[in-house]
Amino acid sequence: TTAVSLTGVTKVYGRGDNAVLALDGVSLDVAAGEFVCLVGASGCGKSTLLNLVAGLDQVSSGTVRLAGQPAGPAAGRAVDRDAGQPGDRTAGKAGDHADEPNGGGSLDLPPIRPGFMFQEPALFPWLTVADNIGVPLKLRGLSRAARRTRVAELLETVHLTEFGRRRPHELSGGMRQRVALARTLALDTPVLLMDEPFGALDAMTRDLLHDELERIWSQRRLSVLFVTHNVREAARLADRIVLLSSRPGRIIHETRVDVPRPRR
Ligand code: ADP
Ligand code: ADP
Repeated sequence: TTAVSLTGVTKVYGRGDNAVLALDGVSLDVAAGEFVCLVGASGCGKSTLLNLVAGLDQVSSGTVRLAGQPAGPAAGRAVDRDAGQPGDRTAGKAGDHADEPNGGGSLDLPPIRPGFMFQEPALFPWLTVADNIGVPLKLRGLSRAARRTRVAELLETVHLTEFGRRRPHELSGGMRQRVALARTLALDTPVLLMDEPFGALDAMTRDLLHDELERIWSQRRLSVLFVTHNVREAARLADRIVLLSSRPGRIIHETRVDVPRPRR
């Protein structure tokens, strides 16, 4: 099955003389459980592509689908208003958009909300590590006891069990990024979007996080779209590397990485 599907996606920012063609007819499928790295020079539209998949911005033309369902601000709004809980109210909200070209098709299923990680982990500084990880669980309405169990599991997943009561500023950059990863995993989403998540880390810390991410990715069969400038990082992690060119943003090359790696 296809987890993420972009078909003929074009994105134009601005109008008239100021218009920027950020993406020009990009088509890309990410299979369930596939790890795809997007590489390319600055300004070639990597972040734009992730934002469109996340539903943070709208395509100018073309379609973006997540497990066959339309992605986009409409789907995102429906999730936010319903605190991420699937159910009849979501179906009602989706119905509001049934007249839009991208709004149909999600009448029965709740929209998929991808997890999104950035270079900056954007943790709440006043919350403990455990409470940061628990935020999505609280939004989903889990009981305090259920949250406690789940947060303890997630702390263990990212090897931070001893640090649940600490505040983000007491941790190293790599540990903070692991907290952000755990918080993203708390969404229980099948799709992970990562925009240079380890770009600010030193090489050794990045290596450790590659090992952790790879372990978690294969255990959970996540579909990952991972943006990086670092070709070595792409070769380390990816099943497939997709190269974008700029002006306009287009896919100019794709490579499947066939090198067998440990732990897979
Ligand atoms: P990358 O992530 O590969 O560096 P971006 O997706 O950030 O590329 O940007 C692609 C192009 O779109 C660039 O030319 C950039 O200047 C332009 N762009 C990105 N966001 C905006 C915006 N909000 N308004 C206008 N132009 C933008
Ligand atoms: P509330 O946020 O409703 O005041 P708590 O303060 O009891 O509830 O817990 C906040 C969140 O963090 C919950 O998601 C809880 O499960 C979790 N949590 C807090 N401390 C820990 C810890 N040391 N280990 C595991 N989970 C924790």
